[in-house]
Amino acid sequence: MPLPVPPRIALIAHNHKKDAMVQLAKEFEPLLRRCTLSATGTTGGRLVNEVGLTVERMLSGPWGGDLQIGARLAQGEVDVVIFLRDPMTPQPHEPDINALVRACDVHDVPCATNLSTARMVLAQLARTTPTV
Ligand code: PGA
Repeated sequence: MPLPVPPRIALIAHNHKKDAMVQLAKEFEPLLRRCTLSATGTTGGRLVNEVGLTVERMLSGPWGGDLQIGARLAQGEVDVVIFLRDPMTPQPHEPDINALVRACDVHDVPCATNLSTARMVLAQLARTTPTV
């Protein structure tokens, strides 16, 4: 099914993946400028300060930011999730992370949990999202 224009993308990166998220955002900056972006608090802050994107910032992940994004997604308000998870570090909010990924599966929302998948998803979006 075609995504709404502009696509609504949620961006989340665990601490060891935040540099990778900033790099990814720089790589796809022209696309991301055409999208409606939300992010967990710290990730969003870095995207605003280091890439200059306009991002709606939720709470930080461990304080409920993943759940806020999941709630929006369940209401049909998020079209794509880029979630760079750190598989090597235990997270205090593991239940929230699982809830968000589960919500993506329940609602059939694309959820990229590693860099390679994120690049594929964003490259596809770049091809299909009109420049305004
Ligand atoms: P953060 O949250 O962007 O506020 O660090 C991400 C997470 O840990 O889920």
